[in-house]
Amino acid sequence: MQSTCDLVIIGAGAAGLAAARAATAAGLNIELVEAMERIGGRAYTDQTSLPAPFDHGCQWLHSASINPFTKVADQLDFRYWTNPFEIRIHDGKWWLNDQLTAAFWDFLNLTYDRIDQAAAAGDDRAAATFIDQDNPWAGLFARNYSGYVAASPAHSSTYDTGRYRNTNEDWPVENGYGALIAAHFADIPVNLGCPVKSIDWGGEEVMVGTKNGMIFCRAVLVTTSIATLQAERIKFFPLLPDWKQAAIGRIGMGHAEKVGFWFKRDPFVGQEMHFAMLNGPGVPDAAFQVHPYGRPMATLFASGHYARDLFAKGEDAAVAEAKTLLGEIFGQDLLREIVAAKATQWVANPWVGGAYSFLQPGGGEARAELARDVDQRLFFAGEATSPDAFSTAHGAHQSGVDAVAAIVKALGH
Ligand SMILES: Cc1cc2nc3c(=O)[nH]c(=O)nc-3n(C[C@H](O)[C@H](O)[C@H](O)COP(=O)(O)OP(=O)(O)OC[C@H]3O[C@@H](n4cnc5c(N)ncnc54)[C@H](O)[C@@H]3O)c2cc1C
Repeated sequence: MQSTCDLVIIGAGAAGLAAARAATAAGLNIELVEAMERIGGRAYTDQTSLPAPFDHGCQWLHSASINPFTKVADQLDFRYWTNPFEIRIHDGKWWLNDQLTAAFWDFLNLTYDRIDQAAAAGDDRAAATFIDQDNPWAGLFARNYSGYVAASPAHSSTYDTGRYRNTNEDWPVENGYGALIAAHFADIPVNLGCPVKSIDWGGEEVMVGTKNGMIFCRAVLVTTSIATLQAERIKFFPLLPDWKQAAIGRIGMGHAEKVGFWFKRDPFVGQEMHFAMLNGPGVPDAAFQVHPYGRPMATLFASGHYARDLFAKGEDAAVAEAKTLLGEIFGQDLLREIVAAKATQWVANPWVGGAYSFLQPGGGEARAELARDVDQRLFFAGEATSPDAFSTAHGAHQSGVDAVAAIVKALGH
């Protein structure tokens, strides 16, 4: 393959697909290239491993009332649940009563307020700085935080929770958020199985070297994850400028992985879908989503370094550990009821390398710097570039649309 176009878009995740649609509508001649054999990137619904759709990546329509995918779900007849996000806490022996659970929520809200206030005051330190470490709920708060941010509060900046636009509506998609995104963008032409290896942007034209040949273009939009940028999976000639490399280095790749279990019969009859969190000394950064959509199912959510180290050992190790935790909380008898199990493998996927981005303490305006173009010919999008919806599918989508607006201007189209 050797071709010429206005714009090459690298990556067919939510950002790249949204960009492709916007660029085509603006009249640009584009090529969208994707390393994997499927579209969606971190939006991926597995239709075969379990008896019902299982989202390996995004599952919740975050900030649902301002999330464009909520409208898409309505149009395409995808079902989502609007129940509040309920949490039950298990201390290794018992479920905590309502009074204790309410006390945890109070501490959680107070601590998030403190972190947000610090961010508003320009205090770009680790979120952990603002947790009262003497409070008995401090450990559980850190695990809850890590479940959202995919990194511990010791490693991530106040700016992320402070700047995130949160409407407190987190609505899971029953048919799969990945399936929703794949259906919405099914009409977009994509070169699948076509990893980009190099971008030569020093000459008159930009040359994009792919597994299937060279593409000549006027501009490139890179939408790949922060982990792939850090691993230099794409080589830039000349090298990216220092300010861009510094921005890439000030953002981290968080980790979040799942193990879904399907049971022979429904062990949670009468229970609403909820999260079961572990509390106690030495418990890992993990929680179970119980009875999702009323299914005979429980899904382990692991996060942070715990998820990274465990899932890097492979699927079997992750399933074995998840079974141990399942037995400790719900009883050993439940293990005999398992008929299917599936573990995600984001950490081992060379085209993703983790879950989603977080800003490191002192990271400042690294997300804005990551989004900034280089010489009006290298453009960047993807969740890590979003100013207020980073880590999400809708933030990735908006970043793709915004990048195309800048590209259209730059190319004078
Ligand atoms: C476990 C987990 C749970 C999550 N939960 C939620 C949630 O509930 N709600 C939510 O909104 N978000 C959630 N997210 C985050 C959300 O999935 C991502 O933020 C979003 O999908 C990222 O989209 P993107 O386009 O920025 O990147 P990606 O989806 O990573 O797309 C980038 C694409 O680039 C491709 N690529 C990489 N390198 C190359 C190369 N060299 N050449 C060509 N192609 C390349 C990749 O294969 C990939 O398809 C979750 C993510 C994970 C992992």
